[in-house]
Amino acid sequence: MSKIRAFQSDPVVNFAKQKAKEKIERCENGTDNDSVCDVISFAKERYGVNESWIVRSLARYMLNTVRKHDKLDNAWLVDGIPRLGDTHAVYMVWLEDGRYKCTCFTHTYGYARRAKVCTHIGAVLFYTRQRKLDDIDKKD
Ligand SMILES: [Zn+2]
Repeated sequence: MSKIRAFQSDPVVNFAKQKAKEKIERCENGTDNDSVCDVISFAKERYGVNESWIVRSLARYMLNTVRKHDKLDNAWLVDGIPRLGDTHAVYMVWLEDGRYKCTCFTHTYGYARRAKVCTHIGAVLFYTRQRKLDDIDKKD
């Protein structure tokens, strides 16, 4: 039984995508240079992702859909967003042998999605990089 949260309604998701696009633009033209920009550069270099991937991943992150798994280390739960094509309420992303994996790899569109790093993983990249840097900032 999946329940769509109010903040994931279509207008809110569209708004987040617009905000994500503006952020990417500021990273690219150099008016912004924070840890989110670092993750964007990292994902482009490491995974060769395109702008649409970054927009969707960043929108997921901005919509607060990522949280740490409460029992497993190196595992995160990502709420599904129907507007972004999700058919499940929650996805799990985890690190295995240094690689990110997601439960969407084995869902209906698993074959098509397996070839690429999905945007649930992208959202986790933004979440973890951000959190690590936040932790460092707090210690200072
Ligand atoms: Zn996924």
